[in-house]
Amino acid sequence: MIETINKTDFAYSQMFLNNEEGFNNYSQSLKIIEKKLTNFLKGNHSPYSGKKPYEIEARLSGLPPASLKGETLEAVADELAEFVINDSINVHSPACIGHLHCPTLIPAVAAEMVIGTLNQSMDSWDQSSAATFVEERLIDWLCSQVGLPEQADGIFTSGGTQSNYMGLLLARDAFCKKFWGVDVQQHGLPVEANKLRILCSEAAHFTVRKSAAQLGLGEQAVITIKTDANHRLSIDELNHQMLLLEKQGLLPFAIVATCGTTDFGSIDPLHELSEAARKNGIWLHVDAAYGGAMILSKDYKDLISGIERADSITVDFHKLFYQPISCGAFLVSDSNSFQYIQHHADYLNPQEDEAEGMVHLVNKSVQTTRRFDALKLWMSLKVVGLETFAEMIDYTCHLAREVAVKIDKEEGFTVLNKAPELNAVVFRYNPEGESDQLVNLLNKQIQQELLKSGRAFLAKTRFEGQVYLKMTLLNPMTRIEHIEDILDEIRVLGEMFKMMEE
Ligand SMILES: *Cc1c(COP(=O)(O)O)cnc(C)c1O
Repeated sequence: MIETINKTDFAYSQMFLNNEEGFNNYSQSLKIIEKKLTNFLKGNHSPYSGKKPYEIEARLSGLPPASLKGETLEAVADELAEFVINDSINVHSPACIGHLHCPTLIPAVAAEMVIGTLNQSMDSWDQSSAATFVEERLIDWLCSQVGLPEQADGIFTSGGTQSNYMGLLLARDAFCKKFWGVDVQQHGLPVEANKLRILCSEAAHFTVRKSAAQLGLGEQAVITIKTDANHRLSIDELNHQMLLLEKQGLLPFAIVATCGTTDFGSIDPLHELSEAARKNGIWLHVDAAYGGAMILSKDYKDLISGIERADSITVDFHKLFYQPISCGAFLVSDSNSFQYIQHHADYLNPQEDEAEGMVHLVNKSVQTTRRFDALKLWMSLKVVGLETFAEMIDYTCHLAREVAVKIDKEEGFTVLNKAPELNAVVFRYNPEGESDQLVNLLNKQIQQELLKSGRAFLAKTRFEGQVYLKMTLLNPMTRIEHIEDILDEIRVLGEMFKMMEE
């Protein structure tokens, strides 16, 4: 026994960062990985290798997922490059313009190494000492950038899904307390809760429905409001729905305004919605997962005016802030709102700690163990600087406007949002005189072929039942020339597929 305890040359000591061997291994490992990644990215402007799903699955199924004796990191990295990295979606490609999926900033990637190495856990102060206050500083900064009142507060989240869920959770519990005097945290939902309703536009994110389901209200609780010609929630329709709900004795407790819809990037009328919410005594949650980045913009900041009147806000940083996944925040206009999710555990966050200035962020989160994701944003904002952030974001919005005008002028194309609000353009190859059925098929084939050939990754979506293509122009390295090439390619493919169908 004694012999084992005194042994200093454990086979695994080089796997940990408390000894010289470990430090050497650390530095070598990072170099090996860095080389594999730059090999993949250098000279590779293609968004994807083009392999079919079953080809990738078959290749990977030949690899054992574990090794009994362990292998060198070098050997594993060779395999990693060949079977995983090379067949990954290349988010750094200027032609990777499908989803709200961004290239990552170098300072943020460097921060990921710090996050993984320090491994702070943001639940209790004694697991995240300095990190706690970095996150708190950033939350304060975000609240002030948004223009929220003094008593505002917030927390980093895994993304928009969690933030939307939290907004509706707090809204539900605040309403139950105010309206029925019921403490949902302690006693669960009252029977009358089946009357609760959430209002949002038909273009709102699907996580509003998912949240309603998870919050015990059912998807039936979500009332969708028609959008206007610009894909924004129509206030007339909202007022109409409110009257209907009142007549039926139903109880709307939250309006979800979307600040940047997933397809069109359109922004609901925030001032009018805040008026409507205030007048009816209901909670306004603004889902600014996408559009929240406009707080950094110079030219387009006014687009999100009114966001400061929200009761709660979702912002994602793994979209237009160019952060590695996952990174998001949830903000509230009044820190007291977090009371609905507080729970004091003796081992983790006892109440008496607060008197000693120990801040336990678990009090504001639905997660317990939580990553120090705030650091990525902190390093990015400092290294890149706010001026450059504004320039990058504004460039992508200018580009989207230019692209929409260009496609609109092209013969044989239709663009749905001729004046994009943010940086998404929805359009389709639409040769004259062809049936919707054929045009739908052609656009599907074009989208698949672009990806298979590695020329471009565009998303496809549906609008009023018809198939459309979507460019989400998040990447400030995408130039108009890239887009022109893609449009030429679409035309060539479209003509080819059309001939094959005829
Ligand atoms: C992306 C998105 C979400 C979901 O966010 P995740 O970060 O993917 O969880 C919610 N709402 C909108 C408007 C989004 O664009």
